[in-house]
Amino acid sequence: MKLSVCKKDKATMDVTGREEYYLGIDLGGTDVKYGIVSRDNLIIVNYKEPTQTSSEGALLTQLKNICRKMMAEYHVKAVGIGIPGNVSMRTGRVDFSVNLPFNNTDVEEYLTQALDISVKIAKDANCAALYEHLAGGGKDFDNMVMITIGTGIGGGIVINGKLYISTKEDAGEIGHIITHARGRACGCGQEGCFEKYAAASALTQAAKDAATSAPNSILAKRISENVSAKAVFEALDEGCGIALDVYNNWIYELAIGIKSLVRIFSPDVIVMSGGVMHQAEKIIPDLMKQCGDVKIVNSKGGNAAGIIGAAMLQYRGIK
Ligand SMILES: [Zn+2]
Repeated sequence: MKLSVCKKDKATMDVTGREEYYLGIDLGGTDVKYGIVSRDNLIIVNYKEPTQTSSEGALLTQLKNICRKMMAEYHVKAVGIGIPGNVSMRTGRVDFSVNLPFNNTDVEEYLTQALDISVKIAKDANCAALYEHLAGGGKDFDNMVMITIGTGIGGGIVINGKLYISTKEDAGEIGHIITHARGRACGCGQEGCFEKYAAASALTQAAKDAATSAPNSILAKRISENVSAKAVFEALDEGCGIALDVYNNWIYELAIGIKSLVRIFSPDVIVMSGGVMHQAEKIIPDLMKQCGDVKIVNSKGGNAAGIIGAAMLQYRGIK
């Protein structure tokens, strides 16, 4: 599915006078989003298609075909791919990914061999953080924590102008800092992880529970129409007190984690992203009231951050 086309006037030419572009791929468990990106961080064209998760071979073939298609249409200089899971930039391999059929898969080697082009991979959250740091909400700040609120909570950390990766390449898993001793069980094996209380899915679950206890509330009506975090904000707009309790408690949980991150990193800026941040105008001031002296901003890239950040692996790189 073709999503959009952007007109651009500034072009970067190679020695033959052709425009040079980068292919950025945001590989998710549900969809592969990809686009042609210029060196000035613009998406020229982008697409989305369902991820082929039936086997490792099927997924690698899908990635190869996407690259081939884009390379046939545009002068693609190099390819960057953001992937969820245990992704190694050092080896170019994906050791493991919960939602993808990769198991110690040499993604870079496979695609580089098949396509004769430079391919770089990185963890999807780090691609988005790279974009936000270099061109998005965290631009002009040397120290940034990015928090992505979705089904879980992801993150990216920039220290002294450099994305912090760590030797094991697994830094930034801020959804799994423990905010509740002996709390809810998490898929990671711990109890009381931040994301079990502050992810968008936790907000939705709290709304469902509150709706069960107060079946005549506006929140119960909205959640029956649409089981999502959005229902909470709709009910809030209609003045529902039950929804306000659910929302305030979620903000409190989010603030607990953010305050810990602020103590550790003392960031110049915290960049918030994820679908729920459509409500940023409400969420950010409420968080700032609880989190004290820290700047909190909305992400600039939104969904595009994953695509542009993946392409940036090639033309900016993780320093
Ligand atoms: Zn966890």
